[in-house]
Amino acid sequence: MSKTVCVTGASGFIASWLVKLLLQRGYTVKASVRDPDDPKKTAHLLALEGAKERLQLFKANLQEEGSFDAAVAGCEGVFHTASPFTNTVDDPQAELIDPAVKGTLNVLGSCAKTPSVKRVVLTSSAATVAYNYKPKTPDVVVDESWFADLEFCKRRKNIYGLRGLQLKMWYVVSKILAEDAAWKFVREKGIDMVTINPSMVIGPLLQPTLNTSASAILKLINGAQTYPNVSYGWVNVKNVVNAHILAYETPSANGRYCVVERIVHHSGLVDILRKLYPSLQLPDKCADDKPFVSTYQISKDKAKSLGISFIPIEDSIMEIVESLKEKKFFAV
Ligand code: NAP
Repeated sequence: MSKTVCVTGASGFIASWLVKLLLQRGYTVKASVRDPDDPKKTAHLLALEGAKERLQLFKANLQEEGSFDAAVAGCEGVFHTASPFTNTVDDPQAELIDPAVKGTLNVLGSCAKTPSVKRVVLTSSAATVAYNYKPKTPDVVVDESWFADLEFCKRRKNIYGLRGLQLKMWYVVSKILAEDAAWKFVREKGIDMVTINPSMVIGPLLQPTLNTSASAILKLINGAQTYPNVSYGWVNVKNVVNAHILAYETPSANGRYCVVERIVHHSGLVDILRKLYPSLQLPDKCADDKPFVSTYQISKDKAKSLGISFIPIEDSIMEIVESLKEKKFFAV
C-alpha cells in the first residue's frame, strides 16, 4: 500500500511539480483543484506517470469552509500550496488576503479533524522571512530566525507609487498573515507543521498557463525597455519541490526552511540572460536612476540539512527560457 498525501492547488506551477515527483516516489496523491472539469487545469496532471493508478482529483475552494475535508480524508501528509500569487488585483483583501489566510485555516481545519494526518507542509515564502527594516547588504546573511515586518510591507506599498509594486506588497502581506495564522493554529491544535519559504521560483513549466514568477522572466525577454530596480532571490522549482518532500519525509524536520539559491539585482539577471542568449533583445537600462537596491544572502544551511543541493540560477534561467519558448509564450 502506498502512502497517501494531499496536495492543494494542484494545477499551479509548484504544485504540479509536487504532484509529479510525489507520484514518481510511489505516493498516492489526492489533489485539489478549483475546477476538475477544466482541462487547462487538469490535463497535464492526468498525463503524469502514475496518475492513472495513483492520482485522484478533488474539487475544493479556499473560500469554502470544509471544502478540503474529502481531499484530506485518509491522508498522512498534506502539502498546502494553494494560495493566489498575482500582482493584478483590484481588491487585495478579497482576492489575496482572505483566500490566503482563511484558506490556510480552512485547510488546517480539515487536517485538525483528520487523525491520519501526521504532518502538514505549508508553502510559504522567503518574503515572510526577509521583508523588514533590518539593513540588507551583500554581506548580510538572513536565516529562518528572521521574520518579516507587516508594517514595513504596508508602508512599502505607500512609498512606491507604482501600481505594480504596490500590489506586489499585498501579495507579501497575504503570505505573512497566512504563515502567522498557520503557526498559531497548529500550536493550538498540536498539528506537526513545517514551512517551506522559497524566493521567486523558476524552471520548466508543466502547466499550460503562465504563472507569476515565470512572467517576471518573460517580461525581461519579451521586449521590455527597462528593468526594475529590485533585487530578488531565485530558486529552481525542482529544489523547492524536493524541499517539500524531504521536509515531509524527514522525521526531524521542523520549523521553517528558506529555499533560495541566490539573490540577484535585475541588472544581474539581464547579464545572465545576455550571456546565455546573446541574440535576445534585452533591456539595458534601469527603470530609475537611484542606486541599485542591494543584494544580500539567505542561508542555505537548513535546506542543505534536508539534502537539497542547489541548482545554479544560470541553469534555472535556461530551463525557464526554453520552457517559455516551447510553450510559445514568446516569439524566438
Ligand atoms: P500558481 O501557479 O498561481 O498556483 C496557485 C494555485 O493556487 C493554483 O492552483 C490556484 O488554483 C490555487 N488557488 C488560488 N486561489 C484559490 C482558491 N480560492 N481556492 C483554491 N485554490 C486556489 O502559483 P505558484 O507559483 O505555483 O505558487 C504556489 C504557492 O507557492 C503559493 O502558495 C505561493 O504563494 C507560493 N510561492 C510561490 C513562489 C513563486 O515564485 N512561484 C515563491 C514563493 C512562494 P487555480 O489553478 O484554480 O487558479
